[in-house]
Amino acid sequence: MHFDLIVVGGGAAGFFAAITCAERSDKSILILEKTSHLLQKVKISGGGRCNVTHDCFDPRELSRNYPRGEKSLIGPLHRFGAADTVEWFANRGVTLKTEADGRMFPDTDRSQTIMNALLGAARFGAVEIHTSEGVVSVVKASHRFEVVTDTGDTYTSSHLLLSTGGTRVAAGATLAASLGHEMLAATPSLFTFKIKDPRITELGGLSVSPASVHISQSALASAGPVLITHWGLSGPGILKISAWGARELADRDYQFDITVNWLPDDDPAELIAAKRQSEGKRQLASRSPFASIPKRLWQRLVAAAKISDATTWSQLSKAQAEALVDQITASRFRVSGKSTNKDEFVTCGGVARDEIDFKSMQSKLVEGLYFAGEVIDIDGVTGGFNFQNAWTTGFHAGADIANR
Ligand SMILES: Cc1cc2nc3c(=O)[nH]c(=O)nc-3n(C[C@H](O)[C@H](O)[C@H](O)COP(=O)(O)OP(=O)(O)OC[C@H]3O[C@@H](n4cnc5c(N)ncnc54)[C@H](O)[C@@H]3O)c2cc1C
Repeated sequence: MHFDLIVVGGGAAGFFAAITCAERSDKSILILEKTSHLLQKVKISGGGRCNVTHDCFDPRELSRNYPRGEKSLIGPLHRFGAADTVEWFANRGVTLKTEADGRMFPDTDRSQTIMNALLGAARFGAVEIHTSEGVVSVVKASHRFEVVTDTGDTYTSSHLLLSTGGTRVAAGATLAASLGHEMLAATPSLFTFKIKDPRITELGGLSVSPASVHISQSALASAGPVLITHWGLSGPGILKISAWGARELADRDYQFDITVNWLPDDDPAELIAAKRQSEGKRQLASRSPFASIPKRLWQRLVAAAKISDATTWSQLSKAQAEALVDQITASRFRVSGKSTNKDEFVTCGGVARDEIDFKSMQSKLVEGLYFAGEVIDIDGVTGGFNFQNAWTTGFHAGADIANR
């Protein structure tokens, strides 16, 4: 059986490319999905709500959320960015809403709404879809791709799109590599930090916002809410820095020191001096003087500064005040491992970006071969950016193939 386009992988990027191509041409299209389920990651994404994109409509600013792929994506995001995603779904009856932190979800708060829109559009475009049929090998022979699947079937196509997702499973990397592409090694991105430290023990669930984080002996720094968990630290401030430092932190085997500033926008020394005057008789551990630092964490910071519970603000010595400021603005923690962020995890690594033409998403090495989504060495920080990459690269691949 011959198709104009075969899409390998029935995830977000593969569907978006297939739909775009179908809506702009009358090309015959086949999606091959190795599992029995389509759009599985869309389904489980964002805790079942699907964080579709981010409320960031300036392409250059949007591109700054991709630790790998920032420069490559500027052009593609100009031509299909977050505003286009919102419009695309609106045109198919799906309204997106924006949360305070900029993440955009379907109004229904159900990822099924996004799945239905994609499945409906593919059906409307007469895209043929085979599930439980994984591609095991691909060969390019005289202007055609020969695609062999694990059911023993062989298909041919004029164009081939690889949208097989993250390459954490080695098999995901083999198809592109077999066609001559360099694959950058898979490395986790977006993970939380394992930390055992009395300052945060049993404080799981407390969150501090704003906060800032710096990784010692590196230029890595980030700002954003920090969440204390049963294992250590998480939250956007930690996830962001884990993405930017994905390769460097893997090289350090996830053993490193960080400093957390629990009060990045204020000067605690000034406030402490004021408290000594205004609340001299009050025990300083009794109440956190900073709205953003919860009482229980405040008490741990006071203890870490070696200040007893009974100490009043007026009894605070200069050395103790300095130790306290140090705990507030530069709490040092030892990280000894990582854990997966259950809400969203991605891998960096995949097809080398310089081997892809980002105007069309076509391979620079093999004519007719295209890439979209996480199979490329592109990944974003948390907040809807990874799906935006899938929509953007899928759109351009599908549009280019339609024009051929
Ligand atoms: C738990 C979780 C939650 C997430 N939440 C969010 C979120 O809210 N917002 C966000 O932006 N990002 C989120 N992400 C990241 C996002 O899901 C991915 O970046 C995105 O799904 C990538 O899309 P893709 O189409 O490239 O790959 P995938 O969605 O992984 O799809 C690839 C498909 O290819 C199939 N496949 C692989 N190999 C073969 C083969 N040989 N033959 C046939 N089929 C094959 C796979 O089975 C899969 O169905 C989340 C990720 C996880 C794991």
